[in-house]
Amino acid sequence: MRTCKTIFALAFCLLLIGCKESAPKIAPRTLPRISAPTDLWKEFSGEKAFEHVRTQVALGARPSGSATIEKARTHIADTLKHAGWQVERQEFEETPVPGKGALKFVNLIARFSATAVQPVPTNTQRVIVCSHYDTKRMSGINFVGANDSASSTGALLELARVLATAPQFAEHFELVFFDGEEAVEKFSEPLDGPDGLIGSRHYARTLRESGRAKQFQFAILWDMIGDKNLTITLPSDTPPQLASALFAAGEKLGTRKHLSTYSDPILDDHVPLQIIARIPSMDIIDFDYPPWHTGSDTLDKLSPDSLRIIGQLTLYMLTQELGK
Ligand SMILES: [Zn+2]
Repeated sequence: MRTCKTIFALAFCLLLIGCKESAPKIAPRTLPRISAPTDLWKEFSGEKAFEHVRTQVALGARPSGSATIEKARTHIADTLKHAGWQVERQEFEETPVPGKGALKFVNLIARFSATAVQPVPTNTQRVIVCSHYDTKRMSGINFVGANDSASSTGALLELARVLATAPQFAEHFELVFFDGEEAVEKFSEPLDGPDGLIGSRHYARTLRESGRAKQFQFAILWDMIGDKNLTITLPSDTPPQLASALFAAGEKLGTRKHLSTYSDPILDDHVPLQIIARIPSMDIIDFDYPPWHTGSDTLDKLSPDSLRIIGQLTLYMLTQELGK
C-alpha cells in the first residue's frame, strides 16, 4: 500500500509538471519575533494525547458525511472549548464523486484570545497547526483509523491544552481539524478536486480569498504520528528551512533518530496550503506504517510515547521559530 501511495505521489508530481500552476517556491517569511515560553514543550503529555486518540477510536469508523463523524466533532469542539479556545465550524457541501450526491463537510478552526475577547480577532494568528479527523470509508470493515487520523487529532487536542497555558503565545496559532482528507473513491488533482483533500482545499481557498493567507509564517500538518515504531518521513516537498528547524529540535531533544526524509512528495493536506494559500507548509508524517489503510490500523499499534515525541518536537520548534 505504500507503493500505491508512492505511485500516486509520483503521478501527482508529473501532474504538476504539466500544470500551469506548478509547485511554488515560497520564500521563507520572517516576521517580528514574539515572546515564547521556551520550556513549554515539556508540558506536552503523550498520555493525555493518547486518551483523546482512544476516545476518537472508540467512536468507530468516522467517514465524512456520517453520523459518527458528528460525534467526533463534538468531542473535538468540546475539548477545545474546555481549554479556552473559540471554535469556528467551517461548514460546506461538496460532491466528491460526480453523480453520487453531495456530502456535508465541516472543518473545525480553533483560535485563542489571551483577554477572552469574543469573537477572537482573526489577525493575530501566525502559524497553522493542523490534522485531518475523518477516516477512510472502507467497505466490509469497521476502519477505526487509530493512526490515520485519530493519532494526530488527539495530539492536536493536547497541543491546544498546552498552548492555552501560555495565553499570549496561544494567540499566534490557528489549530485546524480538516474534514474530507480521505478520498471517497480516488484523489483528484488538488487544485480542482473534487475528491480527496476536500477540507484543506476549502480552507486554503478561504484563506486566499479573505486575504488572511499572508499573515501566516508557516504551517505544520500532522498525519500518522502515533506508531510505536516512530519513523517520520518528511516528504520531498518540505520547505528546507522548516525541515532544518525540525531536525535541529530533534538534535536538541535527543529524538533526531526518529526523523528521516522521503524520496518523493506525499499528497496530503499541506499541499493545498502550499499551492492554493502559498503558505510554506510541512507534513510531519510517518509513512512507514504497514497497517496503513487496513483493518489493522488499531490502537494497539500506537504508543503514547510517539505522540509525546512529536508533540514536544513540534512545540520546541514553534517556540524557537517564533520566539525572541
Ligand atoms: Zn488515510
